[in-house]
Amino acid sequence: MTQTISINDSGHLQLKPLEIPSRLLLGPGPSNAHPTVLQAMNTSPVGHLDPAFLALMDEIQSLLRYVWQTENSLTIAVSGTGTAAMEATIANAVEPGDVVLIGVAGYFGNRLVDMAGRYGADVQTITKPWGQVFNLDELQTALKTHRPAILALVHAETSTGARQPLEGVADLCREFGTLLLIDTVTSLGGVPLFLDAWGVDLAYSCSQKGLGCPPGASPFTMSARAVEKLQQRPTKVANWYLDMLLLGKYWGTERTYHHTAPINLYYALREALRLLAEEGLANSWQRHQKNVEYLWEGLESLGLSMHVEQEYRLPTLTTVCIPAGVDGKAIARQLLNEHNIEIGGGLGELAGKVWRVGLMGFNSRKESVDQLLAALRQVLP
Ligand code: PLP
Repeated sequence: MTQTISINDSGHLQLKPLEIPSRLLLGPGPSNAHPTVLQAMNTSPVGHLDPAFLALMDEIQSLLRYVWQTENSLTIAVSGTGTAAMEATIANAVEPGDVVLIGVAGYFGNRLVDMAGRYGADVQTITKPWGQVFNLDELQTALKTHRPAILALVHAETSTGARQPLEGVADLCREFGTLLLIDTVTSLGGVPLFLDAWGVDLAYSCSQKGLGCPPGASPFTMSARAVEKLQQRPTKVANWYLDMLLLGKYWGTERTYHHTAPINLYYALREALRLLAEEGLANSWQRHQKNVEYLWEGLESLGLSMHVEQEYRLPTLTTVCIPAGVDGKAIARQLLNEHNIEIGGGLGELAGKVWRVGLMGFNSRKESVDQLLAALRQVLP
């Protein structure tokens, strides 16, 4: 006898078509996507093995090599957000028992620690107060002490607004046979980066910040040295989805099915990278620097001060000290509700102490700064 099962209607909502407020996203990310990029997302999807799509994947690879200034052949977009690309670097580079030295000067350094530990690394850390960066002597001492297989550093620590200088770090790494892994989630497109000249072996990023694209397709690259370590590892990569030996066959010449790529996100990433190439990398870096200096001046004229020493401040993300007696969360709420502007609050050690203001990709414009300063004039006590 067939049993009749009745449909549970508790989740059966009768909704109006989607309506989302239009915001100026000046927080730690996402930033607003370029209108041309959004338009590209509207294009009908083709199959993930369609020759037109495979050609687009080739274009993404070339353009990523340009924006990262690398010749690495294994340069792809991971289907997922920056954290997926972060996990891809760790999963592919770390073998159980490897010593992994991680520079922790903020929230994302800690995320790397947690992740590397989950893949069986013998994690060692070097730490700095949030907002400061490591110098070469400190890194050399730590490398000598721990002799790690991998040194991981966050180039642009989004929780603090500090830029970790990388020149000279790889030379130190080579002395100890160490691979250099860097997080460029808040730097790619907006902050000078020369992966090959700086000797970086593994890097990852995201689409929703300096590239001016929605989140979901995240740049990933590894050097020939890092690929060699991957090919020689006795253990399988403990993450099927992010295993570069499998994924590399989809992005490489074999073109074998691995997963269904998020086609429309890749359209968007391709357009975002095309626009960046059209502007030129040096012009984009200069634009980010010019606009952030304009922001700093404006904030100072309102009596506000920055958390990070000027030399190490990021052009993409500024941490602004919340003045004593001011309710930082209430100000951010007012900016959102009354002015449609999103800024971020502090994370971890800096919670309640700073606001985080992002000027990334398409949003790094004088008009964004003017809009924010005008709104701040109204909401600050
Ligand atoms: N690393 C850094 C430095 C970040 O700022 C972020 C996100 O803001 C991530 C990693 C994780 O990226 P996602 O949030 O896109 O997963």
